[in-house]
Amino acid sequence: MRSYIAFLCVLALLLGVTGCAGESGGSLTVYDASGGVLATANAVDDTNGFLRYTIDEAIGVLIERYDLTREEAEKRLFSGGYAIDSTADPTVMAAVEAAYGDQTMPFGCAVTDLSGKVLAVYSGGKEDFALLGHSPHSSIKPLSVYAPAMDEGLLDWSSTIEDKPYKKLKGEKGDLVDWPVNPTDQYTYQPVLLYDCLQQSLNTTAVHSLKTLGTEKALSFLQQSFGWDVSFEQEKQEKQGEEEILGNVALGTLYKGVTPIQLAGAYQIFGTGGRYEAPHAVIAIRDAEGKTVYTYQSEKTQVIREDTASIMNRLLKGVVSVGGTGVAAKAKGTELIGKTGTGTDDTDNWFVGVTPEYSCAIWHGEGNEDNIAAELFTKIFEQMPTPTKKTFAMRGSVKKVVLCTESGLQVSADCGNIKIGYYAANRVPAICDKH
Ligand SMILES: [Zn+2]
Repeated sequence: MRSYIAFLCVLALLLGVTGCAGESGGSLTVYDASGGVLATANAVDDTNGFLRYTIDEAIGVLIERYDLTREEAEKRLFSGGYAIDSTADPTVMAAVEAAYGDQTMPFGCAVTDLSGKVLAVYSGGKEDFALLGHSPHSSIKPLSVYAPAMDEGLLDWSSTIEDKPYKKLKGEKGDLVDWPVNPTDQYTYQPVLLYDCLQQSLNTTAVHSLKTLGTEKALSFLQQSFGWDVSFEQEKQEKQGEEEILGNVALGTLYKGVTPIQLAGAYQIFGTGGRYEAPHAVIAIRDAEGKTVYTYQSEKTQVIREDTASIMNRLLKGVVSVGGTGVAAKAKGTELIGKTGTGTDDTDNWFVGVTPEYSCAIWHGEGNEDNIAAELFTKIFEQMPTPTKKTFAMRGSVKKVVLCTESGLQVSADCGNIKIGYYAANRVPAICDKH
């Protein structure tokens, strides 16, 4: 970040802006959501990447608006006395900063509201990790497999998927080994309820489900819904076939990765009934005369059905409940849903959590402790503003059904063990006839 400040200063000098101490009328001012000055372009706060993200977005606006090259747009933004009204929330920023504290590990975190407003971006360690792509690992499963498959009518709450290897691959010693490996290193060789597949983050069932959905559909869902760059996987699929990218798509080893901002943005759909608005940090841009030259226009897309989003919401609640991989994550005073993601070589540890007001993605680059990202989430949410919404609204025609755990059908008077499930109104299971 230091080099970035130097870059801004050099840029300012090159552009003929006198001095680099803010006395020039030409420099850029960025305001936070409460109207306070977040920074000027020659006094960039070097503790987070929010400013860089915001400036980049503003440059994109100027390029489009005035048909400029990137260089021209940068010149205009930094020397034209512009002001940006941003979405930065000082309270949320402070909460993330305090949770990270004086650690030095690689860390990237983004918090958005549920309409894509980027409230905080924070990086720890040597790079601006919140702005870099990282493999999402299992945090991708709800987005690349389970939600689109449910939306296609291929999966329900009590669908069962076989927990067994998909195929054998050549291992390190040249022998054939089972693939994929589950987080527990074990297989039950039994059909598993979708709820449990997500709660335990099984890799086998994600791969089997992706085979049913098809990688082409999964990739175009990610690309079209969220604008993720999955061109590497798409090209590989074209050249080498679906088999070669099953792991990338189902288990989240995406070549270009995703940034915490992108992941927080995408997860908003599980709290909004399937509506998505791209992450954005610029609300308005004003010129030196104070005239507003750009105002952000809200644009929402329904990327999955309301009922699918509501059912996924309840499934993701299981992940942060007892027995789930994300049980270490808590959000004080409000309902929470979420998903973990963990790399096999301890370099990526993710937690994405969504409350009725916020979506927060945390990437940690030294995931030696299993739940480190989930624990950081809890720390952040201990400092967040008091929630004004405590529960998620169920959207769409969703029915809460009491199930027979053995059959996955609606409970009859003779069934033993029962469990709650959620279904689209037209997909409610029949009454159990096994007992
Ligand atoms: Zn039964």
